[in-house]
Amino acid sequence: MVTLRVLSAALGRCARGPRRPQTPRAPRWVPARMCGMSACSSRFVLSQVHPMWQEPLAIPGGNRQSPIDIAVRNSIFDPHLRPLVAKYDPRTCQQIWNNGYSFLVEYDDTMDKSTLSGGPLEDRYRLCQFHFHWGENNAWGSEHTVDHRLYPAELHLVHWNADRYSLFEEAVMEENGLAVIGVFLKVGKRHEGLQKLVDALPAVRHRDSMVEFTKFDPSCLLPSNMEEYWTYAGSLTTPPLTEAVCWIILKQPIEVSHDQLAVFRSLLFTSAEEEVQKSMVNNFRSQQPLKGRTVRSSFSPFLPQTPPAEGASSGADRTEA
Ligand SMILES: [Zn+2]
Repeated sequence: MVTLRVLSAALGRCARGPRRPQTPRAPRWVPARMCGMSACSSRFVLSQVHPMWQEPLAIPGGNRQSPIDIAVRNSIFDPHLRPLVAKYDPRTCQQIWNNGYSFLVEYDDTMDKSTLSGGPLEDRYRLCQFHFHWGENNAWGSEHTVDHRLYPAELHLVHWNADRYSLFEEAVMEENGLAVIGVFLKVGKRHEGLQKLVDALPAVRHRDSMVEFTKFDPSCLLPSNMEEYWTYAGSLTTPPLTEAVCWIILKQPIEVSHDQLAVFRSLLFTSAEEEVQKSMVNNFRSQQPLKGRTVRSSFSPFLPQTPPAEGASSGADRTEA
């Protein structure tokens, strides 16, 4: 049961367990402790460990685990990296599901209707779901960092390789099975595109709740600059942690308001039946060692930066060295 729950939390709709709330398990929260992971920010104390991380992991960590810190000066400019081609059909959007760790916006992936190709990818990948990771406040929350800079949240758009595999469950076990776009969120003005999603979130406050959610175009959550990204070979950041992911981390963050993030934080890890309700915050994995991997960039960090697009964020939030 536990393994199934953990797996379904990671895989979303593709390997979902029962949708109705299951027999509540006694919450097993542990006392506050320091994060012991080497790359974990020293500014951060994990106040509580989500039960998902207390279970024995089905697949022990290997040599390409995620997330990581992106050291800009150590990334290698690869002029052969092409522009990303994201073609999303809002009609494939189906529902929002609180899986007890994040909320997943899930897409119909039975056909090549919402796809990602180009960039570092040789094949075409289908959008399966997107979700976020965030902190209990605006000082942390992202899984990846750039030169150790933390963002308050990070969006993950999860795609699987439909050219080589017929099911998500197959792709998730293969080294070229998944492609995930990571987008950093920073606090600023309200994000109009995100608001439709934020308005729907109170309906999925508790774990295992699900609500129909349609016609949402995930393109609206992508920054204007899609040309500049880092890419590296990594893993899922939730169990089963399989080393199946080609990560594509966009350099330009999107801007959302503090109030929009506050709605994320109003969600709950716990189901309606549980006596002690736990806020859904700090739902990110600690950082993992690079272990000799190369992070490639689609841009040279040593060339003059292109001027920010109209409406882009202020200079205070730039991360270039
Ligand atoms: Zn994620």
